[in-house]
Amino acid sequence: MGKNSKLSKKNVDDLNVKGRKILVRCDFNVPIKDGVISNDKRIVAALPTIKKLIEGGGRVILCSHLGKPKNGPEDKFSLAPVAVRLSELLGQDVVFAGDGNVVGDNAKKAINEMQDGGVILLENTRFRAEETKNGETFSKELAEICDDYVNDAFGSAHRAHCSTAGVTEFIKGETAVGYLMEKEIEFLGNAVENPERPFVAILGGAKVADKLNVISNLLDKCDTLIIGGGMSYTFMKAEGREIGKSLVDNDKLDYCREMLEKAKNLGKTLLLPVDNVIAANFPDPIDVPLEIKTVSADCIPADWMGLDTGVESREIFAEAIKTAKTIVWNGPMGVFENPLLAEGTLEVAKAVANADAVTIIGGGDSVAAVTQLGFAAQMSHISTGGGASLEYLEGKILPGIQVIQDK
Ligand code: AMP
Repeated sequence: MGKNSKLSKKNVDDLNVKGRKILVRCDFNVPIKDGVISNDKRIVAALPTIKKLIEGGGRVILCSHLGKPKNGPEDKFSLAPVAVRLSELLGQDVVFAGDGNVVGDNAKKAINEMQDGGVILLENTRFRAEETKNGETFSKELAEICDDYVNDAFGSAHRAHCSTAGVTEFIKGETAVGYLMEKEIEFLGNAVENPERPFVAILGGAKVADKLNVISNLLDKCDTLIIGGGMSYTFMKAEGREIGKSLVDNDKLDYCREMLEKAKNLGKTLLLPVDNVIAANFPDPIDVPLEIKTVSADCIPADWMGLDTGVESREIFAEAIKTAKTIVWNGPMGVFENPLLAEGTLEVAKAVANADAVTIIGGGDSVAAVTQLGFAAQMSHISTGGGASLEYLEGKILPGIQVIQDK
């Protein structure tokens, strides 16, 4: 199994939680405006682990960050609305331990009054400046309020912060991953380390620079790499094609040549668009109707830009996807936010949805695209972590997983 793989880490089933205080790091970083949560997916995703700990008679102390507060406590970053929503979803009272110090007197009082099967939610961990610096004091304070620790926040697992990593150094009891984390590790880990073949990786999105290590690592692991979206134009330019005023990362031309060479040397198929949907300008606002035309990848006029893959590219990509047994997709094939430029992404989404394969959507904008286009339910796994899943696909060991005790 791979380095982050499922079997090597303790999970919540390995813990005997009866009467014990379990600190659970969740990802409750949900969109909140004027106290109203507009999307509670992340809260819902955390429920299986929380329910398991309640059923086991644990005393469940939840913590999470929310947004990016800069100078300590700020009302708009309070987790109070999350406690209300969680109470509704769990059908039991979740005590909100409002405490500017996160683990100050108020939180400690709430913890002391807990019963077995009770749940409390601490205040935003980023109200403490040490959180993002992985400071020892806050890590120790978090460890002191509990017996055991569970990390179920995959979306934050690529960060070594007090609540995701530092705390484990001082936990006296056990540490484990939650079900959500375990599911992410199972899908992403298996895809990268032990894929059923053919393994087709699809990368798109805006910039090559954001995905350098992902491209290189996936080329090692996959059989076919499809590159579309904004990042494909840097590859096309590296091949000597005319890309007009398409998005380009001129610093990365050598890198793209290296990757094209690497694919050749490894005998891997690297597919780039052979035709493009182009427009004179980037749509502003993004969903505005605009004049488009399709041209071959060699001849984008100097004052036009490529904003989606053309029909022929879509067919070639779909053909490669059709026979895959494992598919990992990160990044849209075009400016999918505009209906006139969403076809390339739509056709890939359709092909992925119809493939007889394990299909994994690797976080970020591809999740938005697949959801917006109505294919979310047909995917095997949609990762809950954008940055974390990208780092996983880069082959990095994520600190929030690494620190958990082995089985
Ligand atoms: P990323 O966050 O890197 O996955 O990039 C997603 C964004 O890339 C989306 O907002 C798309 O609109 C944008 N994008 C996709 N294709 C292009 C393109 N050809 N030119 C400019 N932006 C693009």
